[in-house]
Amino acid sequence: MAKTIPRPETGLWEQIYVIEIMKGLRTTFGHLFKSLTDPGHFPTTSYPEEIHDLPRDYRARHRLMQRADGSPRCVACYMCSTACPARCINIVAEESPDANIEKRPAKFEIDLLLCVFCGYCVEACPCDAIRMDTKIGVLVGDNRADFVIDKAKLMDWKPADYPADDTQSQKAPGGTLNAQALAELHGGTRAGAPTATGAGHGQGH
Ligand code: SF4
Ligand code: SF4
Repeated sequence: MAKTIPRPETGLWEQIYVIEIMKGLRTTFGHLFKSLTDPGHFPTTSYPEEIHDLPRDYRARHRLMQRADGSPRCVACYMCSTACPARCINIVAEESPDANIEKRPAKFEIDLLLCVFCGYCVEACPCDAIRMDTKIGVLVGDNRADFVIDKAKLMDWKPADYPADDTQSQKAPGGTLNAQALAELHGGTRAGAPTATGAGHGQGH
């Protein structure tokens, strides 16, 4: 049932407004005085010289995750581009040379000028191949083409820039878990690797 919220009664002084305006100005000048005498009271960031550190779960510019050998985890399934409401993901698939992986992206582009940073692509991906945890929230370019990021740019990230407990990032080349992940990859012990009977069928992620 709808709840009725009564209008507050206004007295003569409120209806004149002058007193209310004075009260508002008192608050404004109070803040001004505080910021002049105690700058730490209202911390500010000197943008753009100083970029505010974004939380890791902020939906920032995308990246493509990498396997231990540096190849993309993406299996070109098109689920992200299908889920994308802005239709800004352009993927061209090709056959993967790895017998355990059917396809890989020959081309993977995102038009950041169309992207609405909803994160649906990340949610839709079945193999954690695309993330938006780069903390890159300031996008700069002087022409439209600069905002179309390709596969190389999406895969250009360093494990050192990601937390030590981010296992998937640390398994990529240069990561703290890369040697172990490579040994698993070459030893055929990764999830989905083919068995002696040839029954294995996975995407190697
Ligand atoms: S964040 Fe949303 S709009 Fe941007 S590429 Fe992903 S699904 Fe599309
Ligand atoms: S949903 Fe994931 S695996 Fe599928 S095409 Fe997109 S990034 Fe690649």
